[in-house]
Amino acid sequence: MTIDAYKKTIDFLCQTLHVDIHAGLSSVEATNRLQTYGPNSLPEKRGVSAIIVLLRQFTSPLMFVLLIASIASIIIGEKKDALVILIAVIINVIVGFIQELKAERASQALKSYEVDYCTVLREGRHVSIESKKIVPADIRLAHTVDLTVEEALLTGESKPIKKNTEKLEETLPIGDRINMAYAGTYVLSGKATGIVTHTGMNTELGKIAGLILQTHEEATPLQVQIKRFSWLLGSFLLAITLLVALIAYLKNMPLHELVTISIALAVAAIPEGLLVAVTAILAIGMHRMLKRKALVRHLIAAETLGSVSVICTDKTGTLTQGRMQVVRLATQERDIHVHDDMSRDVFKEPDLQEFIQACILNNDADVLSVTDRIIGNPTEIALLEFARFTHVYDIEEIVKKFSREQEIPFSSDIKYMATLHTLNGQKRLIVKGAPEKIFAMCKQDDLGLKRFVDLSQSMVADGLRILALAIKDITLNSGQEAQEKQGSQDAKKIFGDLSAQLSDLTCIGLIGIQDPLRSHAAQTIEDLKKAGIHVVIVTGDHKDTARNIAQSVGLDVAHDGIMTGQDFDTLSQEELKKRITEISVFARVEPKHKIHIVKAWQERGHAVAMTGDGVNDAPALKAADIGVALGSGSDVSHEVSDMVLLDNNLSVISQAVRQGRIIFDNIRKVIVYLMADSFSEIILIGGALVAGFPLPLLASQIFWINLVTDGFPNIALTLEPGEPEIMLERPRKKTEPVVNTPMKILIFVIGIVTDIGLFALYILLLRYSIFDLPHIRTIMFTSLAIDSLLYVFSVRSLRTSLFRMNPFSNRWLLLAVGAGFLVQLFAVYAPFMQPLFSTVSLGLFEWTIILSLALVKLIAIEITKDIFIARKK
Ligand code: ATP
Repeated sequence: MTIDAYKKTIDFLCQTLHVDIHAGLSSVEATNRLQTYGPNSLPEKRGVSAIIVLLRQFTSPLMFVLLIASIASIIIGEKKDALVILIAVIINVIVGFIQELKAERASQALKSYEVDYCTVLREGRHVSIESKKIVPADIRLAHTVDLTVEEALLTGESKPIKKNTEKLEETLPIGDRINMAYAGTYVLSGKATGIVTHTGMNTELGKIAGLILQTHEEATPLQVQIKRFSWLLGSFLLAITLLVALIAYLKNMPLHELVTISIALAVAAIPEGLLVAVTAILAIGMHRMLKRKALVRHLIAAETLGSVSVICTDKTGTLTQGRMQVVRLATQERDIHVHDDMSRDVFKEPDLQEFIQACILNNDADVLSVTDRIIGNPTEIALLEFARFTHVYDIEEIVKKFSREQEIPFSSDIKYMATLHTLNGQKRLIVKGAPEKIFAMCKQDDLGLKRFVDLSQSMVADGLRILALAIKDITLNSGQEAQEKQGSQDAKKIFGDLSAQLSDLTCIGLIGIQDPLRSHAAQTIEDLKKAGIHVVIVTGDHKDTARNIAQSVGLDVAHDGIMTGQDFDTLSQEELKKRITEISVFARVEPKHKIHIVKAWQERGHAVAMTGDGVNDAPALKAADIGVALGSGSDVSHEVSDMVLLDNNLSVISQAVRQGRIIFDNIRKVIVYLMADSFSEIILIGGALVAGFPLPLLASQIFWINLVTDGFPNIALTLEPGEPEIMLERPRKKTEPVVNTPMKILIFVIGIVTDIGLFALYILLLRYSIFDLPHIRTIMFTSLAIDSLLYVFSVRSLRTSLFRMNPFSNRWLLLAVGAGFLVQLFAVYAPFMQPLFSTVSLGLFEWTIILSLALVKLIAIEITKDIFIARKK
């Protein structure tokens, strides 16, 4: 239905849309409407189909080279070479296709994980349903409390828009329709109720959905770096290839041989598999993180995670279980330790009744219908659960009876909330929040206040999270009473602004809430310390409560280790930067402080991960290198974050960092493997030509090794599980290049050792053996192939010796090497392959030579590794 909802009254909309604003829809009606209007979601951008992935295999530079190569081979009459190229292309396409499809599917799987839930009104009760079944929708607002919304997605304007419920007369642009809340925009503060007027493609967002779907993920810095590196390296190797071709030409090599060998070298030079491998490694890494309950929202975050050197974490949920429980409460007369086995009779006393009533009324948690589960923020859930435990009131009944007339919602900035109700003909203001905030609003001459101040200190010392509750009863003056009798709905109009009333309150009690530590929190922090990562607790909670937790998890909070929001405000950014490394706990902070903490660490060259859940945390989440949203956090925090925790637990972040490090490691392994291979082949052929020897390998043989035999281990390397030492090293610097000096040395050494060995073998065979040239070439061909199939085990770790590693920890690699062996044997022994590759069957003697040479090479690589590992240490 198309209606200009903002020009209509709520009553009109209720009538036309058949909605009861107080009760919501019935479940039956909701299901019917869902069927009529369709699910409330925008059409998803479809994943790339398998056909596209397959076709994409043919669009790479390598394919062009191969195409030209096969045409050239046919023209010059080398039909055998053309056939080899064709087979190589087919196998290469299949391998590339499988790898890319796997990466594509992995990233598709990630998308399906972002399932949101929301609470709606059905038959007068709150129920939790999958967001898809209701949101995104456009809503005409019927009731608002300090509602501000950010509508940048629709209007381009990112400042908060204050909303109300007044009907509008004129035709207005979206930005001015202040009684509407639109799909795709974010609530920044306050609360509201409203009627859904448009859903799915009929929402304002739906109208521009096409534009949004077009946005695409940009290449990550690492991908760009690899692309540039591949280019540079490829060009360098191609230049050498041209040089080799030139030399061959000057030496009067026959034209057809010259063409095929140049092409074979060009194929060796193009580090084709690299970019695909990097993308696959990133996707596999993201998938592994997801299995460990960290949903990484951007590829770039997957790689940045590996360099994280500071983790700023919340306390609730990440370090503690997030299952809060009221364990102590104090009123003027009592100090009660609450436990399951206690008698509940005591709660019938008047002072406790008043207290429990306040806990229920000044509370935003919701009791869900059907399940009776309580949802909301953990602190408030604890209060409602406590109220339920006391058996004093029927929660639903009392909430209806003394319904809320006005309120100041809780936020981490102000650390309290206030509500107004009518009780016994009077207005009652109830305020609850952080004790020092509440005490400051109380009558200072109240003798009881001193008792509460003392008690709160003793509770804090026990590591409890504390709330104070205070009330104020206000008698209306005759004018106000008259207005109320006339039935004016708006309490604000009669009573004025609630914030003006926040003084002269009477404190009625304290609540101590316990949130047990997670069992592995201390171990996780210990592990992170070993990995050279600083853990910093950033909490809105009291200094001493935070200190207590910090000490229990093994953080150093000696003298200067804790800073409060108040201390914070007196420091300049420069001073903060100086002191930041000494501070492991920031207590009583407001969201605005978080961004300064992130910046101070970053200015010292660190990569920072920061957790957050509230709307106000968004700037800090954005500024952090890795913004981590808690799964239970606001939509805004999810949207700006790089990673969402599906289980709010510090160990999930730690696992994600570990995977980030593995990603980087595996990329390095693949680079070393591929580069060393290309490097040795080019030097070998070039060297032979310069020295005036016949070619040690045929073009078809080079194709086979590059495109087929080595293809399998290359894929298996992307699946390396990660080495045990990975979390015992210092974090990588943000600026550290992928290809570092030790790697360059290793690539060079592998290449040179291979070449010296093969050259020596070649010369010896030419001079002293009885074998003819095809036989010698078969030995060279097999030697090169077997070499690279074996040294892949060395490349599995750039830090640990091959002989100290578990050879079975990556069974894919064993399979891949097995497959590589088979295809190599196939090329050497299969009768119909022999003419294609000009190979002959090899005997035991030749195999002894080949395997001995491979062994010598392995030992040389291990010695090099040892030298540079030793040097690094
Ligand atoms: P943590 O690090 O434990 O997650 P936080 O940073 O989320 O804490 P806040 O939720 O901002 O901390 O809470 C700060 C203080 O505000 C609490 O110590 C408590 O005294 C008070 N408080 C928390 N929740 C509420 C609430 N719903 N109503 C009133 N006061 C609250």
